[in-house]
Amino acid sequence: MKWEVFRGDITGLEVDAIVNAANKSLLGGGGVDGAIHRAAGPEFKEACRKLGGAETGEAKLTGGFDLPADYVIHTVGPVYRDGKHGEPEKLKDCYRNSIKVAKENGIRSIAFPAISTGIYGYPIEEASEIATRTVYELTKDDNTIDKVLFVAFDDKTESVLSDKLEKLYREEND
Ligand code: ADP
Repeated sequence: MKWEVFRGDITGLEVDAIVNAANKSLLGGGGVDGAIHRAAGPEFKEACRKLGGAETGEAKLTGGFDLPADYVIHTVGPVYRDGKHGEPEKLKDCYRNSIKVAKENGIRSIAFPAISTGIYGYPIEEASEIATRTVYELTKDDNTIDKVLFVAFDDKTESVLSDKLEKLYREEND
């Protein structure tokens, strides 16, 4: 299958690109961002500095440096307030723009963390629905990207992401 849920640490994945759920500074933070910065090394930090930050929903590329992944796509998820402040559209932008950057750079395999669902507080059900549907639609008829991993760091995220993917397959086969 092109789309899979992977349970574990995104920093260890040997894929062409991992996506970072960054903050606007792109200089590192907590959660998955902190883990990626620790694992990728000092040259990575320097490459991030040169990006000059990003707006919510944007996606920018650096090398992976000390990571097994060749590239990191940095995207800034929305901070969740109540879902009525454009959060769904902004979260969609993160996935859309990350896929766009991936395609532009010949990336064939990509791993996403559950963007915004940690420190930024996005409810996991809604965020997983957006993540899986957006990525599925943009990659199902595409021959560049042949592997997409949705990375879950905890039980709940793993089960919700798996349910959402199964639902998409069922819809497709109905
Ligand atoms: P955000 O600020 O966008 O909410 P977080 O990093 O706080 O980002 O959380 C996003 C998701 O990434 C959460 O599901 C969190 O559990 C998960 N996460 C944290 N560390 C890692 C890691 N090393 N690998 C994969 N996922 C991780």
